[in-house]
Amino acid sequence: MEKKTISKRAVRQVLRDYGAEYKRHWGYALTSFVLPALGAILVSFVPPLFIARIVNMIARGDSVTLSTVGHLIALFALSWLLGEILWRIGIHFLIKLESEGGRHLGKKAFERLARRDYDFYANNFVGSLTKKASSFSRGFEVFTDTLSFNIVTNTFPLVFATIILWRFSPVIPLALIAALACTIAIAIPIVRGRSKLVAERHEAGSRVAGRLSDAITNILAIKSFAKENQEEETYSKYIDDYIFKFKRAANYQNKRFDGIMSPIYVATNTLGLLAAVYFSQTLGLAAGSMIIVFSYYSNITRVFWEINRIYRHIESSISEAAEFTELTIDPPNVIDVKDARTLSVSQAAIDFKGINFRYNVEGKDDVYFLRDFNLTIRSGERVGLVGPSGGGKTTITKLLLRFIEINSGAILIDGQDISKVTQQSLREAIAYVPQEPLLFHRSLFENIAYGDETASKEDVINAARLARADEFIQELPQGYDTLVGERGVKLSGGQRQRVAIARAILKKSPILVLDEATSALDSESEKYIQEGLRELMKDKTALVIAHRLSTIKHLDRIIVLEKGNIVQDGTHEQLIREKGLYAKLWSHQSGEFLEE
Ligand code: ADP
Ligand code: MG
Repeated sequence: MEKKTISKRAVRQVLRDYGAEYKRHWGYALTSFVLPALGAILVSFVPPLFIARIVNMIARGDSVTLSTVGHLIALFALSWLLGEILWRIGIHFLIKLESEGGRHLGKKAFERLARRDYDFYANNFVGSLTKKASSFSRGFEVFTDTLSFNIVTNTFPLVFATIILWRFSPVIPLALIAALACTIAIAIPIVRGRSKLVAERHEAGSRVAGRLSDAITNILAIKSFAKENQEEETYSKYIDDYIFKFKRAANYQNKRFDGIMSPIYVATNTLGLLAAVYFSQTLGLAAGSMIIVFSYYSNITRVFWEINRIYRHIESSISEAAEFTELTIDPPNVIDVKDARTLSVSQAAIDFKGINFRYNVEGKDDVYFLRDFNLTIRSGERVGLVGPSGGGKTTITKLLLRFIEINSGAILIDGQDISKVTQQSLREAIAYVPQEPLLFHRSLFENIAYGDETASKEDVINAARLARADEFIQELPQGYDTLVGERGVKLSGGQRQRVAIARAILKKSPILVLDEATSALDSESEKYIQEGLRELMKDKTALVIAHRLSTIKHLDRIIVLEKGNIVQDGTHEQLIREKGLYAKLWSHQSGEFLEE
């Protein structure tokens, strides 16, 4: 599902983002571009002027002693040294510019990623997302380095050289600029040809990263199906493809670009020497002037060599950053409306009114999953949601939390349309335990306290007790300080669910949504946790999804969902009497669970 092409729009956005950093830190930007450029002039272009003076004196047969040329030698050294100092100061500011810009762009990347729609994360590999997000801020470094070290430090001296050479004869700088323009005209198409190859290499690299992270995420499936060999084989195909494209791009560079540019480089310098000799005869230039002409000429044509690097660095930094921007450039579907209000919940009554909703699935964009769906949940009502899987239970909760957007109709909480209030106030009002809770790779304490950052140790332990998590946490050697592995893999599914419930208990929101929150618990543990859940639901409006009907049997009301439709609605006793789908499910399960 990953987008492959990079749009002009994304490139422009990257340039705007990078440009904004130069503007924010314009003082750093100015010094880090101007000082190295002046430094380059003082290091490479001023010293030849003093050499030329000495050469002219020798050529004229003047006496050359320390007293006659000493000051020129001193100026030679001074200019060079001053140039070096300017470079150091320039780089000092360049480091500041890059670190401040990188800091800000890194934060921006996270912000843009974290604000994507819920569905976005299902459609992108974690591995390539993290790689792209870091390219976005790292690209700024490469881009700025190139701008400072290669572009500005090459163009500034060109101006200086033109002014000096112009004094000998305008023909000389004009010839130099013409040679430069011709070479660039020859170089650009060759470099362009390479950039397609580089883009392909880059794409192959992203595929390798994505495949690797997908394999690691699913390592359990790989191992349990004993598919290591097969996965290795497929992965090595991805690597082979990448290496093939890597070699192809590198060879193009070596054979096509360098192969063409190096003779041009030799030729232009030879022509330059020829021209210098020719002008010294026709214009009667002194020997020293000829040295200046040639030394400037070879200094400036060195840029030919760098065109390639400049182009490559600019292109790779911008295109990698644009790849990330491409993903985040469109605003998310779910956004706060202008002047969104804060949801204020007093009764916590919920109303789904005439909802039409469909998932964006290609080829199925005219089939609604929910059609004119209506459901009213009164204040403080505790509602169970049951039905065959795929019936739409999770969908209803995602719509209520506004992770996904309805197509028409309205969802109201205490009469306020949830699409008109801020997402933050909406989600603060709802404690939600998802179907498969994952945990942060942080301590258990932090994982639980995530529901209320101001919670004290006692609050956290109380919540954990209610969720029946305290007992297993106490048994861990490091108790609440235990770090749970990335994605919570060091805990069992049931333990993870209990931590997630404890987190929801701490949140103290007026609305509670549990999506199969106890599905991984054995019925014994679940019976214990029921007590905690009852406590949790006190004075709250609750929506509880469960497969195990004993979990929701005691609730005020039970809704049976099938294929996006409410097929039954009532209390446990009523539904049993109706002899519909619920009664059928119940008789299946009560055979299983003998305690009922
Ligand atoms: P339940 O929770 O009752 O098992 P869901 O609400 O998860 O059911 O799913 C309802 C239907 O919506 C299913 O047919 C499922 O395939 C589909 N569905 C769920 N999520 C998506 C999605 N992100 N994109 C497309 N279809 C989806
Ligand atoms: Mg579900």
